Amino acid sequence: MITIHQPNITITGDKARLTADIEIDGENRPLWFEVDAAYAPYLCAERTDGFLVGLLHWAMEHRHDIVCETPVSADLYFGLTVNLIPALAKNSAVLYPVRITAETDDTPIANAGAVGTGISCGVDSFHVLAEYTDPPKPLRHLKLTHLMLHNVGSFGAGEKGRAIYLAHVEHVRNLARDYGFTVIFGDSNMADAFPQNFLYSHGYTSAFPVFALQKLWKTFFSASSGYDDITHFSLVNSERYGTSSHELLLLPSLCTNTLSILSGGAVLSRIEKVRKIAEYEPTYRYLTACGHTPHNCSTCRKCRRTILELYAIDMLDRYRAVFDVDHFYANRNWYFVRYLSKYWQGDPFFVEIYPLLRKRIPWYVFLRAGVTYGPQVLYRRIVNWNKRRPKNGGKRMAPQKD
Ligand SMILES: [Zn+2]
Repeated sequence: MITIHQPNITITGDKARLTADIEIDGENRPLWFEVDAAYAPYLCAERTDGFLVGLLHWAMEHRHDIVCETPVSADLYFGLTVNLIPALAKNSAVLYPVRITAETDDTPIANAGAVGTGISCGVDSFHVLAEYTDPPKPLRHLKLTHLMLHNVGSFGAGEKGRAIYLAHVEHVRNLARDYGFTVIFGDSNMADAFPQNFLYSHGYTSAFPVFALQKLWKTFFSASSGYDDITHFSLVNSERYGTSSHELLLLPSLCTNTLSILSGGAVLSRIEKVRKIAEYEPTYRYLTACGHTPHNCSTCRKCRRTILELYAIDMLDRYRAVFDVDHFYANRNWYFVRYLSKYWQGDPFFVEIYPLLRKRIPWYVFLRAGVTYGPQVLYRRIVNWNKRRPKNGGKRMAPQKD
């Protein structure tokens, strides 16, 4: 059983913090979100919404019901209990149908009318910037007013995670200075207090900072992060896949009568988003692919993927400030060998660009990749086969007995 106690706001120096005691079977784990004190008036302590949504996926995996001491927004309660939780639990042998005990409140939470999105400087978040920094007239009401960089798990946990977060703060601060964006930096202990696989839970944990600042936002864009577009929507065994695969159910379930959380880019595949951002000038100096450092290493899996995507659409030369493009051209066959290994393993991020790359890869590189990675590819394909949907046979998790 999880009890979410009444949230409270404290101001220390130039920081404002929203905190709630989270009691799990008698153990207390305070959870907090912190911003510059200038944003204190926008923190919301009157509702449990942020804490509830931020902890929901963790509670479903760890089989906890949730009791909320403070009211939950009525529309959010509906979205979670009537639609989202039953749908996920019905399609998973792992996710537990959490029962939420809470008062509901449909009084509108007044907000400042801000429109925001998260900014990691990756392809997905830059795609939202490219589309909504200056949207066409019919969509002017969705023009971005604020960006937000938050630390809720994408950078990892502990001191190492915090150091990576702070490096990204610096990077995003420079982007904001050069292009005139207003950025909110939101720190949290979410990753330390409730560790979980970020890829499989980010749609939930990333909503925590949004609801924490519920008095600021009218609309918030969640950058869709899937390799494919929404035609591959699925709820089956969702705990094994990125939350973007079910975001068209998740995001509407998170809305209230004053806050809309919209998907940015759900209908586009990864390479379609790459094509869009390749025409967006701020990416030439600030695109980050690495994940663990804002300064791309140019050789890790994520960097190789992005370099090859840009190469495949003949845009790589625009990115000399953020990637070691000369190293790529000098070692192109090494990139191709590693690429083919991932492609043959069925890594969806690498499969999409194969038609664009196939004719550029020499025949002897195929041979070298087969000799070098053949056994590994075979092993990975067997492992991946085991993971494929559907597998739970429609088994439903039984509610916990009191
Ligand atoms: Zn890298």
